[in-house]
This record gives sequence, C-alpha cells and structure tokens, in this order.
Amino acid sequence: MATNRTLTMIKPNAVKNGHTGAILEKITASGFRIVALKMTQLTSSDAKKFYDVHVDKPFYKDLCDFMISGPIVAAILEKENAVEDFRTLIGSTDPEEAAEGTLRKIFAESKSKNAVHGSDSDDNARIEAGFHFSRREQF
Ligand code: ATP
Ligand code: MG
Repeated sequence: MATNRTLTMIKPNAVKNGHTGAILEKITASGFRIVALKMTQLTSSDAKKFYDVHVDKPFYKDLCDFMISGPIVAAILEKENAVEDFRTLIGSTDPEEAAEGTLRKIFAESKSKNAVHGSDSDDNARIEAGFHFSRREQF
C-alpha cells in the first residue's frame, strides 16, 4: 500500500448513534478519498489482534470489549500526508483535549468511546489496511 493512505474505523458508539454518514462526509470534505469501505463487527480475537500493541496497558481489556460491542465501519483513506493529516482531523484521544471542529470533539462521548480510530504511522496503516481489507477490496 502506498504511504499516502491511512486506516480508519468509525467505532461502535458512533455507528450506534447514527453518525456514520456525518463522519464520512467530514472525512471526504477534508480531502480524503475513500479507497476501501465496509461495515463489520470485530470478534474478540480480531480486537485483541488489532490492539495487540496495547496488550500491557490497563485499558486493553475494556478497549477490546468496547470495540466488539457493535458494528464498526472500516475504511482506507487516501490523501497526501494521510496519516498525519487524519490524526489532525480526528483530534486528541481524549475529546476534552481535542481541538474544536475535530471528529472526536464533535462525535466522541469519552476517552474510551472516542468515535474514530486513525493509524499512527505509515507502517501501521499498511498493517491495519491488510487486517480489514483484501487486495481486491482496495481501490
Ligand atoms: P486510536 O488508536 O483508536 O486511533 P489513539 O491513537 O488516539 O486512538 P491510543 O493510545 O492508540 O490512542 O489508544 C487506543 C485507544 O485506547 C484510544 O482510542 C482509546 O479509546 C483507548 N484509550 C487510550 N488511552 C486510554 C485511557 N487512558 N483510558 C481509557 N481508554 C484509553
Ligand atoms: Mg492508536
């Protein structure tokens, strides 16, 4: 995958609250092109694998439990400087610290139910895209 791509997930709380369309609209209005898209529900082993980097953190179990609590929407997004620009668009992990206008400021309920995931590096974007999408689902 090219390094101008990032992986996002609209998390279960945001999907459940009906924010999928509004979030995708803000993403595309910010210059990202959707090159893969699906609604799916993670299994427990999916969530543990996806968040393996956080296995030693105190919030790991709650994070995995939350991420399997309902459907998510996963997407690969393309834009110059995608990883960094998307992290700017979503805002800080804790919505109370997120800048005005960011997706987490608008849609997050709390630090754990923070509405949107964004890859944190080009390497992880590539790994996370492959986690959710086969080659023929990436355009
Ligand atoms: P994400 O990886 O979901 O885009 P992030 O990169 O901003 O979020 P990470 O440090 O990777 O933050 O943490 C992954 C997720 O774990 C966060 O989005 C949040 O839902 C949860 N999390 C992180 N820190 C805490 C915490 N101190 N308490 C509760 N949940 C947390
Ligand atoms: Mg992260």
